This record gives sequence, C-alpha cells and structure tokens, in this order.
Amino acid sequence: MRPVVLCFSGLDPSGGAGLQADIEAIGQSGAHAAIACTALTIQNSQQVFGFEAVSSPLLLAQANAVVSDLPIRCVKSGMLGTTDNIAALAQFLREHPDYLYVLDPVLVANSGGALGDQQTLVRAFAELIPLATVLTPNTVELRALTGEQDLEKATRKLFAMGAKAVLVKGGHEDTPDHIRNALYINMEMVSESTYPRLPGEYHGSGCSLASFVAGRLAQGDHLKQAVQHAEIWLSGALKNAETPVPGGQKIPKRF
Ligand code: PLP
Repeated sequence: MRPVVLCFSGLDPSGGAGLQADIEAIGQSGAHAAIACTALTIQNSQQVFGFEAVSSPLLLAQANAVVSDLPIRCVKSGMLGTTDNIAALAQFLREHPDYLYVLDPVLVANSGGALGDQQTLVRAFAELIPLATVLTPNTVELRALTGEQDLEKATRKLFAMGAKAVLVKGGHEDTPDHIRNALYINMEMVSESTYPRLPGEYHGSGCSLASFVAGRLAQGDHLKQAVQHAEIWLSGALKNAETPVPGGQKIPKRF
C-alpha cells in the first residue's frame, strides 16, 4: 500500500479547505490520506458561520483505530479547534515518535473567520511545536505564535520554542506582485522561492501546501525536496482555481 498520512483536520463543507483539501492534495502527492476529524465547520467560500469540535476522546479513538491497520508514515494537523484536541494530538505523537509530523498552525480561515479561540490555541500550540518535523505558518500565524511582529525575530523565536524546521508562507504579506516563501532548517534559511501573486483570494491554499509536503515526506523526500514539489504543484492548482460565486474565494483545482 502507498504510505499513509494521517491528518487531524476539520470538515469544510465548501470542499475548499480542511480535510477535503488534505485528501485531494495527499492523493495528488502519491500518498494515501487517512483522517481523524477534529471539527465540523459551518462555512462557505466567503464566511465562517461557526463550528463544533469533536471531543478529544473521540478524536483519539479515530486516530487509534487506524494506527495498527494502515502504514502511517506521517501525521499532518490543520484545524484542531480546542486546546483539549491539541493536548490529545501531542499525547498521540509522543506515543508514536517514529511518525513524521507536519504542523500547519491553523487559527483562522482565509476568509477571516475564527476556527477556535486564538489566544488559548496559541498557548496550547507550544506543546506541539517541538514535536513537529516542520511547521508551515503563514506570516499572520507566525506573528501570533511568537508575539513578534518582525518576521526574522519571529522565526528565531519559533526555533527557540523548539521548532526543527519552518516553512514561512508569505501570501499574507503586502507584496502586491509576488509571494515569497522561505524554508528554515535549524534556524538557517535553506531555500527561498518567489512566485507571481495571482489575482483574488484562495480558500484552502495553506492546507493543500502543507498536506502535499506531508505526502511527499511520507514517500521519502527530504524536506527541501518535499517543499519544492509542493510549491510547484500548488502553483498549478491555484492557476486553475475555480471561482464558486462572484465575490467567493477561489477553490484550488487540485486534480
Ligand atoms: N481547516 C479548516 C477546517 C478550514 O475551514 C480552514 C479554512 O477555512 C483551514 C483549515 C485553513 O485554510 P487555509 O488553507 O485557507 O489556510
């Protein structure tokens, strides 16, 4: 069987982000996605109306059901919803130190809607940071996680908090014509990539990128290679993204 990425992620009914983005991206990367669902959200491509998180025992029961059943190589987390779920995932990862782990520290949807209480989530993420093979924050999440506005200082602080590698995604920066991503391993920048900024807003681009990285890592890519593959693949999915309704965020075309 293909290597498996076990995702801890939420359901987005629009199909743009969350667990559907994970399944599609991981499938496209060549791996198989398994899901432990963290929350059901109520949202469309434009707005988050609310969400209900699953309990942490239910979350762990889903994950544990597939541990001895599927060849899991990597865990990927997106929306976790509650601090209990973050603590449950930390416990799960400590029980499985051989799993690679991609931590996408989701706090808000791209449309701006909250996917949990930001302050308590930020505090709880501190437990997950040292467990991750790589973190994939956008710059809003990077600043929120570290309390530092300056991106260089914020990145350094994330390493001081125990990070091993960080992919900083520049999509939220005020760079009208381009987006710059940078990959740091052990505090050192090992690659940098710049892409033309495509017009419009995208729903689920972060989930897709992190999941593709997880899928490639599960298949044996080195981190730098996995990120390069994921960025190239995501560029195509964003170029071909579909606009659901006028004013709606574009949904990446991942196939
Ligand atoms: N997970 C869920 C369930 C979501 O609904 C969202 C955004 O709506 C995200 C994660 C993060 O999405 P993005 O990839 O746009 O940052």
